[in-house]
Amino acid sequence: MNIDFSSILLVPGKVLDVKAKYEKDCVGFLNETYKTQALSDIEFSFKSRDRKHFSFTAKGKFDVTMPCSRCLDDVVVPAEIDVERFIDLSKNINDIKDESDEYEDYSGYIQGTELDVDAFISCEILSSLPMKVLCKDDCKGLCPKCGKNLNHGACNCEEKGGFEPEGNAFAKALDIYNSYFKEV
Ligand SMILES: [Zn+2]
Ligand SMILES: [Zn+2]
Repeated sequence: MNIDFSSILLVPGKVLDVKAKYEKDCVGFLNETYKTQALSDIEFSFKSRDRKHFSFTAKGKFDVTMPCSRCLDDVVVPAEIDVERFIDLSKNINDIKDESDEYEDYSGYIQGTELDVDAFISCEILSSLPMKVLCKDDCKGLCPKCGKNLNHGACNCEEKGGFEPEGNAFAKALDIYNSYFKEV
């Protein structure tokens, strides 16, 4: 869904409130895709300063399903968006490099006088997520040898030949992780 905010640019101080929906059911980042579920509409409120400057706020709630970073089981993580952005349409995007600039690089989600809700919201959801989640504090993770989820019971590796701590646990987890996301 796109929001056309052109009407506010003609009248300084004009406010435009719009309820929007996130129309995708996932967010993606590099090779990772997380399922998302909207728990509310997204409430946008635009306010103009003049023909080239405006601000907007966006609020919404989502549940995002991420893999536990030890055992890769699904973990539902709440993501709450409550942000305000300042837009200067007179600026060339290339001028907005300085992080201290009050104004935002909007090139990823604004074209002309339309805001792309899905593009904006997926970025906001991603940036609100923690880097890592655990399904529980004492998650036992995966056996580094056979890859079994040890929360679901012990495997036989320890009995036969013993535990191999140096095993290529990370590579194995990564393999499982990658194949998991290919199947989805
Ligand atoms: Zn876990
Ligand atoms: Zn094992």
